[in-house]
Amino acid sequence: MPDLSRYADYVVHPRYGRGPRFTPDSWKGVLGFGGARRLVDRPKAVPGTYVKADLGRQTPSVMQEAGYFDQDCRCKDCGRGFLWFAEEQRHWFEDLQFDLGTECLHCVECRQAIQREKELAERYARKAADLDRAGSPDDLLAGAAAGVRLIERGKFGPKANQRVRAALNRLSAEPDFAAAADRLRARLDALQASPGTE
Ligand SMILES: [Zn+2]
Repeated sequence: MPDLSRYADYVVHPRYGRGPRFTPDSWKGVLGFGGARRLVDRPKAVPGTYVKADLGRQTPSVMQEAGYFDQDCRCKDCGRGFLWFAEEQRHWFEDLQFDLGTECLHCVECRQAIQREKELAERYARKAADLDRAGSPDDLLAGAAAGVRLIERGKFGPKANQRVRAALNRLSAEPDFAAAADRLRARLDALQASPGTE
């Protein structure tokens, strides 16, 4: 039985869990295929977790993957250990058609946080024009809320701060939106009172 204590504080994947997913498949038989290079070159591969690939479903590449192993990784953002699961790789490369050179740099939690930030930034960008012009109060609030969140995450500087504050001031003149504007303004005030806390 392999020692699993190494994975005790690894990030839990909502679908695949925390530790390696051992499979009954032997991977020795696949060496010699086109995928052999990457299989043997990957120092992070966890032995015994081989999942066979469907070569026909991967994006064409000089070096295809004959199969996948759970990969023992460290998150670039939070620094915690995590496994990039063989099944996950199969999903990325065969269902989502990711390039086979793609590496997984972030744990699932940080990937989700990055995704949320990206969505916020897109949302803010879509509403940004309304922050300066006379957009509808709904749009103004949506843009300002996304802006506040991004400022909190340290993604926006002082200029965005001014812009968002101007939008909040305009919202304060709308009876139905004044309370929401106050709450967002309070969050900005709290940031200014204690800069750098996150
Ligand atoms: Zn992370």
